[in-house]
Amino acid sequence: MPMLGLKIDVDTYWGMKNGVPSLLETLKKFNLKGTFFLSIGPDNSGRAALQLIKNPLFLKKMMRTNAPALYGWKTALYGTLLPAPMIALSFPEIVKEIIAGGHEIQFHAWDHRRWQDELPRKSEKWIREWFAKGIDGFEKLTGKKPTAFGAPSWTIDDRVLTIIKEYKFEYLSCTRAKAPFIHESISVLEIPSDLPCFEEIDAQKEVSIIADLLKDGKTHVLPVHAEVEGGIFQNQFKELLETALNRNIEIIPLKVIKDKLDIKNLPSRKYKMELLPGRHSPCAV
Ligand SMILES: [Zn+2]
Repeated sequence: MPMLGLKIDVDTYWGMKNGVPSLLETLKKFNLKGTFFLSIGPDNSGRAALQLIKNPLFLKKMMRTNAPALYGWKTALYGTLLPAPMIALSFPEIVKEIIAGGHEIQFHAWDHRRWQDELPRKSEKWIREWFAKGIDGFEKLTGKKPTAFGAPSWTIDDRVLTIIKEYKFEYLSCTRAKAPFIHESISVLEIPSDLPCFEEIDAQKEVSIIADLLKDGKTHVLPVHAEVEGGIFQNQFKELLETALNRNIEIIPLKVIKDKLDIKNLPSRKYKMELLPGRHSPCAV
């Protein structure tokens, strides 16, 4: 049976507060489970404004996706004119609802924005502390350690993998590769998001584009953002779920894919960094 994994990233305070409840309702309506990757710590989204000056591709993406409509103007000021609010740590009751809904819950970030914009310039010490604070917060919220990590904006480097190894994650979802593989240097399974995100393709056509990609009968992972599919694209998301269900595609959390993979026969290799269509910075593939 063909399978579609839902990798749901929560990147912002707005997404945790508004997007997650909306997605929980949608998933409940269809009786589906997904994997929520949570940002735990500060929402420094406002710092993205600095990127507008530094990276013209980012400005293009902001214009195309109508970012203020996606996240609201307040989000655009967090960490600059307004203090950065905590993301998952501000909403322990929503975290409980995710768990009560039977969904998988995993670790996405401590400070999503800074990782996304500044990782190459940060020290190994900074990365270590980022993981320590994020996983500590995750444990406070869920009573458990995460068993998987999905890197913000699919950005990793060799230092990150070395630190990851110490956490003994069961799998990673840190890349946009086309198929699962083993991260060579640390022997850890990678379950990539192989499909495009809604905000990377034409808003009007995305449902049919993604639906077409599902026709091959293989296993796929859709990257979902609480801010997008739990916000302005919620109807398109429902439409896509309906289309997939009508085609007898099983929609599942990533841990189910992990359990079904023939791990011994997966290729082992190093990730590469690549600029994908619709993105403003390179992703691991
Ligand atoms: Zn993210």
